[in-house]
Amino acid sequence: MNKRKKQQKETAIFMQTNEICWSCKGPLNEGFFCPTCGTLRRPFALSPFKFFALPFAFNLNLNTLEERYLDLQKQFHPDKFVTKTSQEQMNALSWGGFLNDSYNKLKKPVERACLLLAEQGIHDVLEEKPTPDMMMKQFELREQLEESEQLDDLLIEVQDDIANLESGLVESFDSSNFEKAKKQTLELQFLSKFTRDIKRKMRQLKTN
Ligand SMILES: [Zn+2]
Repeated sequence: MNKRKKQQKETAIFMQTNEICWSCKGPLNEGFFCPTCGTLRRPFALSPFKFFALPFAFNLNLNTLEERYLDLQKQFHPDKFVTKTSQEQMNALSWGGFLNDSYNKLKKPVERACLLLAEQGIHDVLEEKPTPDMMMKQFELREQLEESEQLDDLLIEVQDDIANLESGLVESFDSSNFEKAKKQTLELQFLSKFTRDIKRKMRQLKTN
């Protein structure tokens, strides 16, 4: 599959709505502001990927995400709306909230994977029970964490596993293998939490 071509195609699908402007009743285009009167649109349901004009992909360019975040933050900044109507000020606050929420989700691999799965109609992935294999592995890891006082190796091992899972997720999403992506997301969720547990114990050992 030609990845570049695929991404270009997906980036082109930005916002498409047939709504009219709440203020002047003029037609709206794909932008956040009315092309006729320039007021900020009311928030509407939008995928965080579309909001940031990013491709629906797991391996996002995090620099692009950051750049667009800063740009959108400027566009919706409350200071820009102090002389505007209260409706427009409320719109700016709502968009600002959606911006921060979307940014924080897209930045985190587990949440980004959940968003991509939700696009496929697969919801509540993190509520699912781990498979017996996964449970066994998680049990062994927890046991290692409890018994060992030398956690550097365990941390490196887990971080390697996380890196492998993340490249696995890129492949699963690229090949539309969503069942596999679901399992990998669950595993990644466990390992992300587990990393925090290892680091917590390492800090405790240091201070004791
Ligand atoms: Zn208008």
